[in-house]
Amino acid sequence: MRRRKRPQPGKRLAFYGPQRSTESVGRPHAGSLKNGIHLDPDGDGLGRGYAVSKHRPDLWGTPELVTLIKSCGRTYRRYFSRKYRPIPIGDLSSRRGGPLKSHKSHQSGRDVDVGFMRKKPLSKGYFTNTSPRQMNMYAQWVVLKCFLDDPQTQMVFIERSRVRALKKYIKRIYKKRRSRLKKYLSYFPGGKRKAIYPDKVHKSHMHVRIRCPKGDRRCSH
Ligand SMILES: [Zn+2]
Repeated sequence: MRRRKRPQPGKRLAFYGPQRSTESVGRPHAGSLKNGIHLDPDGDGLGRGYAVSKHRPDLWGTPELVTLIKSCGRTYRRYFSRKYRPIPIGDLSSRRGGPLKSHKSHQSGRDVDVGFMRKKPLSKGYFTNTSPRQMNMYAQWVVLKCFLDDPQTQMVFIERSRVRALKKYIKRIYKKRRSRLKKYLSYFPGGKRKAIYPDKVHKSHMHVRIRCPKGDRRCSH
């Protein structure tokens, strides 16, 4: 009987070595992903407050993106008990990145679609067109704020009337907390930390993009 060769210490080192193994290559609209990390679709089952609907295989991202999603799921669960539906998460990137069906970007492991939080949520992980009136503004702000609070977040695309509604909402809740208001308004268009980009298309979800991970030299904006 043949005995299996033990891995040599040197070999292991080569594999787990100091070199970062995941790499975001190129631009979100023309790029690829090397050794991406897979997001567990049932984060809520693990107590992480997010879920992905069935039949979404494209859940690959950089470790930074996957960690950020999990961490915002946990933040959400600190505000909302398990009685509330988890954050619906849509596509990230395909296993090796590159063009993804029905998306222009999502090619390099830095993009994720995050469904809007609704007053009347759909089944776990699903999202659909959600008007500002149908939005659960408090839950939506908890989720958006979590992404904005992380300096890795580079851009958040949201349809413009929804951006206006969110801006109005934070002006109301931070009325007596001037410094908070000033800080969060600065993420909106015209602000010095601008991260929110209003557009015409993101009516069911916000599209979050993170910055190029440190050390990914071939990654570009
Ligand atoms: Zn997207």
